[in-house]
Amino acid sequence: MSKRYVIALDQGTTSSRAVLVDARGRVVDQVRRPFPQVYPQPGWVEHRPEDILSSQLGALTELLVRGGLTPGEIDGIGITNQRETTLVWDRATGRPIANAIVWQCRRTAPIIERLCGDPAVADDVRARTGLVPDAYFSASKIRWLLDSVPGAQERAEAGDLAFGTVDSWLVWSLTGGRAHVTDPTNASRTMLYNIHEGRWDTRLLELFDIPSAMMPEVRPSASLFGATANTSVPQGIPICSVVGDQQSALFGQCCFTAGQAKNTYGTGCFLLMHTGHEACVSHNNLVTTIAASAPGARRTEYALEGSVFVAGALIQWLRDELGVIRSADEAEALARSVPDTGGVYVVPAFTGLGAPWWDPDARGAIFGLTRGTTRAHLVRAALEALAYQMSDLCRAMQDDAGARIDTLNVDGGASANDFLMQFQSDILRTPVRRPRNVETTALGAAYLAGLTTGFWRSTDELQRLRADDDVFTPAMPQERVETLLAGWAEAVRRTRTNA
Ligand code: ADP
Repeated sequence: MSKRYVIALDQGTTSSRAVLVDARGRVVDQVRRPFPQVYPQPGWVEHRPEDILSSQLGALTELLVRGGLTPGEIDGIGITNQRETTLVWDRATGRPIANAIVWQCRRTAPIIERLCGDPAVADDVRARTGLVPDAYFSASKIRWLLDSVPGAQERAEAGDLAFGTVDSWLVWSLTGGRAHVTDPTNASRTMLYNIHEGRWDTRLLELFDIPSAMMPEVRPSASLFGATANTSVPQGIPICSVVGDQQSALFGQCCFTAGQAKNTYGTGCFLLMHTGHEACVSHNNLVTTIAASAPGARRTEYALEGSVFVAGALIQWLRDELGVIRSADEAEALARSVPDTGGVYVVPAFTGLGAPWWDPDARGAIFGLTRGTTRAHLVRAALEALAYQMSDLCRAMQDDAGARIDTLNVDGGASANDFLMQFQSDILRTPVRRPRNVETTALGAAYLAGLTTGFWRSTDELQRLRADDDVFTPAMPQERVETLLAGWAEAVRRTRTNA
């Protein structure tokens, strides 16, 4: 009998999930295991490596047991993960030398300042990695671990320590220490990987004084990484893909070629646009990153990536801080209860304005309040603000790519809001496409694993699996769009401190 499923392991920032996907690309079951965040000091964020592992292995085991599944029924496992989060462990014992430093952690900002503060160095890092130097990426986190754990630098130089992002840690552990590997999408977020040459960059390893002996082998995202040999899980299931979460969502949205883009409307927004074989250089401080390729791809594929800091978080704020709505679901009906915002604009610059404004000192503002403004107007203006911010980011990205986004593929919690999706399509003047299954992060890893094993034959076949999406098409008269965008531009202008 043919094997019936692939499993995606989705190791996220707050939980680990195991997702069972059938041959028609449907999620038939999933198990989520949350795990604790560790905050040793303000601005510091850690994960205990054993929590990452036990939550992930626990989710996998429960999924198999609950479905009565034998390893023989699983064609392969795909791994997708929170990116940049950094681990270092002892090769001999498999024991981490410290907690994982999470992508959000700001403790290494002084290292970046010290090593990349010179604009010439920053430009060089940027040219090699596609990234704007920041504590967010793995390089300075490895440096911090090697500095802070006594003897670590020497042990690393002797080849006794291994570095890995979360994918490497999982594959190492799942294979019982047999494979120390990663993929280009994760490697491209370390700030140590040359995205043009497709290898760890000697010059950057020197800059951060990181011994090359610590670095994992980089294999294509869709390839064989090993087979399960950890005693806590069934043996012998092949691991057939590894991919960072955002690139996984891009693949899971079937954005396989240049000009295709996806946006995730979560707490913040993550926009990625496939740019084909070209590593576009951004003039708007967006980052250039490696996209996941289907098996057999001969040349590297790239994407531009940008984010909006506050998206769904604005709706949470209306709910939790202002108390004007009881639940996020209520926002849509309230917004629809008025024909427009009555001239109100919310600029959610809680932590500054991102691309293309880059104004860290700006703070949030509400404009156009009158005695007639109601909570419905305010809620509508907040939802519209999510779409305006995305429209600014899309414009910057299209400008960098020299190409138009032909369809915006969407997912994430707030993409459930039909009002928001229609408004987004209206002001972008672009169709917005929402898959019936918004588990796109898990699907990307599953697709890549299934293409590797032959569970699915081609990306065309994957396209055909997603027939019944919701598509929102532009319907608002052009004149109204222009008036609204002019109002938003004016609100942003009045919010900026660096205009
Ligand atoms: P994350 O993965 O970042 O935690 P999710 O993808 O789960 O986020 O999305 C949750 C976010 O989406 C929350 O910030 C919430 O306020 C927002 N959200 C959820 N449902 C809606 C809705 N119907 N309308 C607007 N925003 C929503």
